[in-house]
Amino acid sequence: MISHTESNHLAYTNLKTMTNLIWLKGGACSGNTMSFLNAEQPSVIDLVTDFGIRILYHPSIGLEIGEQVNEVLNEALSGETALDIFVFEGSIIQGSGGSGNMNYFAGRPAKDWVKDLSETANYVVAIGDCATWGGIMAVPPNPTESTGMQFHKKEKGGFLGKDFKTKSGFPIINIPGCPAHPDWITQILVAIAIGRMDEVLLDDFHRPKTFFTDFVQTGCTNANSFSNKIDGGFGKRGGCLFYEVGCRGPMTRASCNRILWNRHSSKTRANHPCLGCTEPGFPHHDLKKGSIFKTMKYLGFLPKEVPEGESKLLYYFKSGFKKTLSKKTTINSSK
Ligand code: SF4
Ligand code: SF4
Repeated sequence: MISHTESNHLAYTNLKTMTNLIWLKGGACSGNTMSFLNAEQPSVIDLVTDFGIRILYHPSIGLEIGEQVNEVLNEALSGETALDIFVFEGSIIQGSGGSGNMNYFAGRPAKDWVKDLSETANYVVAIGDCATWGGIMAVPPNPTESTGMQFHKKEKGGFLGKDFKTKSGFPIINIPGCPAHPDWITQILVAIAIGRMDEVLLDDFHRPKTFFTDFVQTGCTNANSFSNKIDGGFGKRGGCLFYEVGCRGPMTRASCNRILWNRHSSKTRANHPCLGCTEPGFPHHDLKKGSIFKTMKYLGFLPKEVPEGESKLLYYFKSGFKKTLSKKTTINSSK
């Protein structure tokens, strides 16, 4: 990760020109825009003043309306204005019947702008689960025929196809989350603006490894309780949320407990289970009744999903042993 001071310094030394950015939205709740506006390291203002990012258009903060929006978009498509970064938030709505007419924007189906701008920009960044893998919008029966930019759930392909690459040679850069953490968004935009994308490695789901290698459990204040099999409860201090209320921290790659939210906390630090929102399976179990805030189990006591990298059998054996031990310790200490 680039520190703010370091990247600030680099910004002044490396910046030669402005970096033009266009942000559009599809099937979205605008949560990622809200998140983006809350960024602190660096902030949106820093992007403009210190890192030379020129936001040509953003549907929530842009001043352009009506024909002016078409002008900005068409100038980018014609090459009159160089387009360095295209950011997309929300699912690509293909309904009905592949026409895209369920989501019109600036005089044509939004999906057509997405295709043209993706082919024009040097880098394309998909922000949030809906843009990366379809997210909640793509849950069956998916009436809007929503999908992600280059993935449909876990499957590579999505709207642009599995082999799509932008002019820079990068595929779609995915910054998932529901919403994505503000600083994940702004730090990747800075890396592009200061020409350091060669240092940004992507994983199999096109996520920058710097944010999506460790699990949410890394840095969770309940990690000791996890090891000692001590149950916690929703919103209750102490104990781990894995055993009863469906915390997905051990199976979810994200830096929520390393780069804290509001510099202060995270879901699991506030004793709210991690919902696994940065994984392409989100929303897990397709929001089936009884699958949220609940640990799915076999025979009522064996968790169906175990921490990533562990064999189920070994996990059940270890956890059964520890559980017995933790009960004994509690009984002995209460004597
Ligand atoms: S399962 Fe969840 S609450 Fe428990 S230690 Fe892991 S991240 Fe924290
Ligand atoms: S803690 Fe889990 S659900 Fe919450 S933002 Fe992080 S990855 Fe998403």
